[in-house]
Amino acid sequence: MGRSRRRICLFFAALKHTRLCRHQRSFPKNMFLERAANRAQRKGWIEVICGSMFSGKTEELIRRLRRAEFAKQKVEIFKPGVDTRYDEVLVVSHDSNHIRSTPVPSSSNLLLLASGIEVVGIDEAQFFDDGLPSVCEQLANSGVRVIAAGLNMDFQGRPFDPMPQLMAISEFTTKVHAICMHCGELATFSHRTTKSQELVLLGETESYVPLCRGCFNAARAVPTGNP
Ligand code: ZN
Repeated sequence: MGRSRRRICLFFAALKHTRLCRHQRSFPKNMFLERAANRAQRKGWIEVICGSMFSGKTEELIRRLRRAEFAKQKVEIFKPGVDTRYDEVLVVSHDSNHIRSTPVPSSSNLLLLASGIEVVGIDEAQFFDDGLPSVCEQLANSGVRVIAAGLNMDFQGRPFDPMPQLMAISEFTTKVHAICMHCGELATFSHRTTKSQELVLLGETESYVPLCRGCFNAARAVPTGNP
């Protein structure tokens, strides 16, 4: 009886040892094959994060890019050369969260600069030229995950090109909301508090307030721009 129990114990111990050895022997090989397969099957796509001023677009972009960095993916962030509000090299959100980025004069620069990159982040996408959707498409087609953040509408409540085109070709679009400064509802409009009619007006903190539809329409009805 005691002998047979010992035999059973020895059998299971040997089985466990064999399994461990097999696992240990094959682990590096499996890992290599898995990585190779991942590379071969890597598929790109386009994500868009849009909303009004102060809606947390850049915070959301930075959050996604940080997660990709934690996953050891090659990440690169680009912003238009025109966006020099805070810093030449850093993408900075309103809560001063920041991440290193490369300012580029044109969307065509992305194709060259993103070579070998797995995740491409684009901040202030609305300030890029009309070639951006085509560039994002080419990147996604070549296996790159593209995440573009930008304003959905300009200060007059019109779709802000090239964001509508980007949204149309994206796999995922996230609309983030600010809080209306007048009534506390969700805000999707960026109301300009100065009389300037320039499409691009930098120095946003003093020049814009996020408003809901009702408050935005009321504010626009007043010639001075203040409801
Ligand atoms: Zn409101």
